Amino acid sequence: MGCDFTKLAVPGIRGLNPYLPGKPVEELAREQGLDASSIVKLASNENPLGAAQSSREAIAAMMDELARYPDSSLYNLRDSLCRKLAVDPDQITFGNGSNDVLVLLAQCYLKEGCSAVFSEYAFAVYPIAVQATGAESIVVPAKNWGHDLEAMAEAVRSDTRIVFLANPNNPTGTRFSETELRVFLGNVSEEVIVVLDEAYFEYVLESEYPDGIALLKEYPNLVVIRTFSKAYGLAGGRIGYSASSGEIASIVNRLRQPFNVNNLVGAAAVAVLNDEEYLNRSRQVNQDGMAQIEAGLKSMNIDYIPSSGNFITFDAGMEGVECYQRLLKQGVIVRPLTNYGMPGHLRVSIGLEEENRRFLEALAAVKPF
Ligand code: PMP
Repeated sequence: MGCDFTKLAVPGIRGLNPYLPGKPVEELAREQGLDASSIVKLASNENPLGAAQSSREAIAAMMDELARYPDSSLYNLRDSLCRKLAVDPDQITFGNGSNDVLVLLAQCYLKEGCSAVFSEYAFAVYPIAVQATGAESIVVPAKNWGHDLEAMAEAVRSDTRIVFLANPNNPTGTRFSETELRVFLGNVSEEVIVVLDEAYFEYVLESEYPDGIALLKEYPNLVVIRTFSKAYGLAGGRIGYSASSGEIASIVNRLRQPFNVNNLVGAAAVAVLNDEEYLNRSRQVNQDGMAQIEAGLKSMNIDYIPSSGNFITFDAGMEGVECYQRLLKQGVIVRPLTNYGMPGHLRVSIGLEEENRRFLEALAAVKPF
């Protein structure tokens, strides 16, 4: 017989449970014999407006460059971003989605014999990124579905190199305040890198919500993660970044693939970054859609976890997977949360008014009231 190539894989990788993405529209259309245009996909926290006209035009204008390698430093985008965020160019690290930067950080700072701390119900990429390095994951029980920052600070050990915080968290939508974050940072050794994942930053309305980038000067061990996948509408283009000290960025850049961000999305990101109108519309659609879905859930007496993101997690009132399957039959795709240890919940992304209405109607039809 041939080799056992599973056994030959490094142990951290062999034991991985891969990330489960939302079901694609085309797959459901095939499975259920539905017309793809009738399907509502609210499963991956995408921007329901579609990509901005400004980013579409920037991509079209970039087509002549498709045969060329991209600018590895993303000079134009770095320049625009640094002005906007008031950071220095050497503080930014771009990734093929912020997911890429999360994995790079883990690879740079973790190995067997080290540990990383994150919360129960935290974003599913953290355990994958940690385990792939052979390091140990320390999962701290959540408090009211959110991060228990006090317990997380206590969970840090002498071998802990990274703490992952998601603010707001996906899939629970929970968030913490600037005061809570500052207390946490004060309680954690400066030698521990605190990765503050702000993928949904642009959607948060609450005034006490911290801007991680404004805290970088005070906390050299802080790394802030942002993305163009959500409010900026470029999830399919794949671009995200971290802002950190120049020293940490210089380490991550040693491992980063030189062309990990393609030139099309690089140009699109510059355009949409300066497109205030699109960002405002994204926020408004989210705010209105969140109110619509909350009102619909309330009217059906369905419990939900109040969310600061562009999605909301609710009590399915039955096995989440069962409710998910029933919704699929109605042509509505949401996200089951069994792999997050939340088998009775489902997460729905905020869509356009009509999509939200379709979701609420489908939910009313499948619920045993
Ligand atoms: N962090 C969080 C909390 C997320 O929810 C997501 C997307 N699901 C990401 C990071 C990664 O997003 P992307 O790779 O598209 O930037």
